[in-house]
Amino acid sequence: MPTGPNPADFAVVRATNLAVVLRHVHANAPCSRADIAAETGLNKATVSSLVADLIDRRLLRETGLTERRIGRPATMLVLDGEPYVALGIEVNTDYLSLSAIDLGGARVLSWRRSFDGLDSTASRAATAIAALARRAAARISRQDRRIIGLTVGVPGLVTPAGVVANAPNLAWSDVDLTGALRSALGNPAYPVTVENDANLGAIAEYRYGVAAGHPDLAYLTGELGLGAGILIGGRLVRGSSGAAGEIGHVEVVPDGPLCGCGRRGCLEAVAGTAAIVRRIDPDNTDEALRDLDPEVAEIARRARAGDKVVVAALNEIGGHLGKGVAILANVLNPSLIVLGGHYVPLAEWLLPSAQAELAKRVLAPDAGGARLAVSELAHSAAASGGAASVLDAVDYAKLSV
Ligand SMILES: [Zn+2]
Repeated sequence: MPTGPNPADFAVVRATNLAVVLRHVHANAPCSRADIAAETGLNKATVSSLVADLIDRRLLRETGLTERRIGRPATMLVLDGEPYVALGIEVNTDYLSLSAIDLGGARVLSWRRSFDGLDSTASRAATAIAALARRAAARISRQDRRIIGLTVGVPGLVTPAGVVANAPNLAWSDVDLTGALRSALGNPAYPVTVENDANLGAIAEYRYGVAAGHPDLAYLTGELGLGAGILIGGRLVRGSSGAAGEIGHVEVVPDGPLCGCGRRGCLEAVAGTAAIVRRIDPDNTDEALRDLDPEVAEIARRARAGDKVVVAALNEIGGHLGKGVAILANVLNPSLIVLGGHYVPLAEWLLPSAQAELAKRVLAPDAGGARLAVSELAHSAAASGGAASVLDAVDYAKLSV
């Protein structure tokens, strides 16, 4: 019996090659057909035929000509990807936010809605998250586009299997949020992933924010809780069980104020947003601090007006933050540490003392090159990072069949 390749084998080879070309353009766009051939080892005629196919499917598009130093000008290719949309949703104590970004990197939707995370059970939360995702999906499919994945960020420890092991500020423990979402969404064809919110914030800052060009970075959430997302060499550091980056629970003030985790003097208990609000406004009777936006805006207003008590408090809190991030800088040597969330409007008064404390406590000269920066994505960081993580994980082989 002849044992040569059959047509099915050729189809598999072609799908693989389509995926190779897409991945190459994703990583190197804009690039020409000749660049793709030279760098993938596929021959030029094959690349031309694969590219034609991908343009037909609106996965690639041609952009202008580029002057080449050698040879004729070449037509450059970029990802089109307009029909393929990634969703990211952030769950927080007082809001849900959603970002939809297409495969070409264009922002399709950016929503924020209030959400009572403090009083929602995990199953009620799953229903609310799924409802938001369905609304976005309906809007997107009316535009003749298709969802290619959803990543949901939560403020808590998430296991590699997508189980929320512990989210203290939401009072969730051991919640299979991935399973609950999949079933609330009717087992969709696209992948559904759950990830720690700080991790997603770090990805967003690297892809779309102030940390572009900084593959070694830490991102501090600055929501009701305080966690760090860490990228080293552009890759997330999750740790063995997903528990890396809990900088909020290192002790910075021995025998200091009680922390939500039950210990004393944690960074979160002295420099988390709730700690800042309680420190500056001790008469605040809202025990749970449901909506931090107006409280933080008021603190920023008083600081801007020159209120000495507020400025001194923020200066001291900045010093605590500096102590905390110095630990990250000594251990990981990032080039950038980004303050996100509610730290953004307060950064002007927190940063100088934080940067000074950082310089004082890091062994390497000049804090090992670590600089503090302020997020420009603010409360949309984790949702954008969710969409970005879907785009990073796109299985081009599936997309191109
Ligand atoms: Zn703690």
